[in-house]
Amino acid sequence: MTKAVRSIPRLSRRALGIGESATLEVARKAKELAASGVSIVDLGVGEPDFPSPACAVEAARQALADGLTRYTPAAGIPELRAALAGRYARDFGAPWRPSDVMVAVGGKSALFELALALLDEGDEVVLPSPYWVSFPEHIRFAGARPVMVPTSAGDGFRIHAEAVIAALTPATRAILLNSPCNPTGGIVAGEDLREIVAAAAERDIVVISDETYERFLFGGQQFASAAALAALYPETIVVVGSFSKTYAMTGWRIGYALGPPWLLRSVMDIQSHATSNPTSFAMWGALAALERGEEDVRQMVAEFASRRDLVAAALDEMPGVSCRPPDGAFYAFPNLAACYRPGRQGSAAMASYLLEEARVAVVPGLAFGADDYVRISFATSREALREGLGRMAAALDRRG
Ligand code: GLU
Repeated sequence: MTKAVRSIPRLSRRALGIGESATLEVARKAKELAASGVSIVDLGVGEPDFPSPACAVEAARQALADGLTRYTPAAGIPELRAALAGRYARDFGAPWRPSDVMVAVGGKSALFELALALLDEGDEVVLPSPYWVSFPEHIRFAGARPVMVPTSAGDGFRIHAEAVIAALTPATRAILLNSPCNPTGGIVAGEDLREIVAAAAERDIVVISDETYERFLFGGQQFASAAALAALYPETIVVVGSFSKTYAMTGWRIGYALGPPWLLRSVMDIQSHATSNPTSFAMWGALAALERGEEDVRQMVAEFASRRDLVAAALDEMPGVSCRPPDGAFYAFPNLAACYRPGRQGSAAMASYLLEEARVAVVPGLAFGADDYVRISFATSREALREGLGRMAAALDRRG
């Protein structure tokens, strides 16, 4: 009898071009090590350590008890879409109606579906760099090309209109902004945002504004939302937001997008085939958080501000490490290039060294397009931060 020849069918070119998310990879490795009994301080993934607001938990529990466990419209429950439209109208004078709001399985899936709705082969998307790990992957997966606009540590990684506009070409379909920025904490000032949005509208370019970290601003910085410009430029602005960070609801997977009907309708069609609706009872919890979670948010943000100062001070004391305190989000992004040595050359080797030698998980800057840096999340307790940064200082001090 002849033996069956076993070969492996090939993956698609698109799949071959994508790897595991670096942030989730670090989270996975840290959890695996912790589960095997190793004492790990996880400063890797950006996941608030607070419990979700009690009002959200109670509303989700009630939704389950009430049997709200069936399919909902693919774009989400009308109550949450109306509440989000109301919030953006109230806070920013945005023109979006409930039908212009799509609830998604986290902000991440809204961004992915937007890329699929908007981009073709040969298209370009302009985005400031360093950038969040998943942005270029979404863009490439949709067949388009990310065009990076460098921001620099010297001015806190600010996004400058001039640099963004200079990168626009006839192939540009979208500008992808993320302010405050994961991983740098850099922000875009209102004036720069206005210039970018106006230049985009003139050229029929869509501005996708990922405002996931809108509530995390430090040192008196002001938040400039693209939503405030949507009444002036209704066809070319999309805002993406998330419940994950603001309300410490990462595992619930509820995010959203608001934007013009010509685009959002297509994004909703894609979602109707990709995920159907986001989880029904999670949306009821999110609605409660939006309506009654403000006090929880205020307390969390105040705690993040203290942690940011603690982390900045600890990094400042480490020889060879340079880090400006971030203006927003909840990450420190120190430059460690002066600490690179044979065996810990480059951010990936440095992150492995810190994991193995110091048992501290950080994300290599390479994943964000900046190999001189590593990302430290301060979405964890002060005790963990003190312990983790102490271990990191000792490991960096070791000759090697
Ligand atoms: N956004 C968070 C981070 O950057 C969670 C993981 C992810 O989605 O990338 O750590």
